[in-house]
Amino acid sequence: MSAATLTVDLDALTGNWHRLSLMTATPATLVGLTEAAAVVKADAYGCGLAPVALALWDRGCSSFFVATPQEGIALRAILPDADIYILNGVCDRAEDAKAHALIPCLNAPHQVAAWRQAGGGPCALQIDTGMARLGVQPGDLAHLLETERETLAKCVLVMSHLACADDPDHPQNAAQRATFDDMIPVVRAVAPNALASLAATGGTLLGPEYHYDLVRCGIGLYGGLPFADAEPVVTLTAPVIQIRDIPAGAPVGYGADWIAPRPSRIATLPLGYADGFHRALSGATGAWIDGRPAPLAGRVSMDLLTVDVTEFPGLGPGDPVEILGPHRSIDALATDAGTIGYEVLTALGSRYERRYKGADRN
Ligand SMILES: *Cc1c(COP(=O)(O)O)cnc(C)c1O
Repeated sequence: MSAATLTVDLDALTGNWHRLSLMTATPATLVGLTEAAAVVKADAYGCGLAPVALALWDRGCSSFFVATPQEGIALRAILPDADIYILNGVCDRAEDAKAHALIPCLNAPHQVAAWRQAGGGPCALQIDTGMARLGVQPGDLAHLLETERETLAKCVLVMSHLACADDPDHPQNAAQRATFDDMIPVVRAVAPNALASLAATGGTLLGPEYHYDLVRCGIGLYGGLPFADAEPVVTLTAPVIQIRDIPAGAPVGYGADWIAPRPSRIATLPLGYADGFHRALSGATGAWIDGRPAPLAGRVSMDLLTVDVTEFPGLGPGDPVEILGPHRSIDALATDAGTIGYEVLTALGSRYERRYKGADRN
């Protein structure tokens, strides 16, 4: 074994989806039952689109969100019967989206026009309730619905996105919800059967008044914060590919940045910043060995890490060490790198040997 191994636990992933679904099925849910859709953009947050989507479909999830039409086309080949929403909507790919029965989230008048010109059909309408990123401005909504009445009568989902849902005390949450509540009836005057959706993972955790008809869960499925009760999904282990003893004073790695403070053992591991082990992690814990941390020695290279394993005399070439797993979560690694779990996941490299645990089909 010479490559690092990324293991994705599909049972944990579908279990996380199931738990988020149950969270929305409280009696306090205002309008019927809330559906938990899965967000599988960016190759299912780096975990692999096909195995993740199939496992969720087999567990009962039938609505999926991706970012781009290209991602939607790839998902359509995997799940012929799913509802597939395109968060970024359509501009020049409207005809492709239509041909693959994708549901674009229309975000602006020019996107609505592009959808009409492609023949229209089931679509979603995104309202910008205070994030200034995607979606129709509330002040423009009535006019758009009037001028594009025929196209928007096919709207099956009115949605918006919360900017601060990972902070339950942030006043912007309630403010965005109030704006969304004002906009829903305006859309339903033209599209009476449109479902409503405001929450991603963070909003789902805010409570029933944020659930509406459908929640769009991404990070929580993959075991990341803010879903603190999520089961971890991703494990990353790497084999030692070389090991050496160096005297005190010997330099390690680029820039001779690290000088051995004592006679030291250095283990080399086959992953680096090109595999998503951020270069900013230089100086942090490199790996966990027998449940104890071993610090990085020197800078993170493109394809390699060097770790100070002086405290682990029994370690030898070929032995596996933990990069992500029971002792270090994606969020812990993210904190060390000055980023968020989302970025750790989506940066996971394509060179890992990938294993999928659980779920019969994979
Ligand atoms: C990415 C995204 C989601 C999923 O967010 P998580 O925080 O990962 O659950 C939901 N809705 C929109 C609009 C998104 O862009």
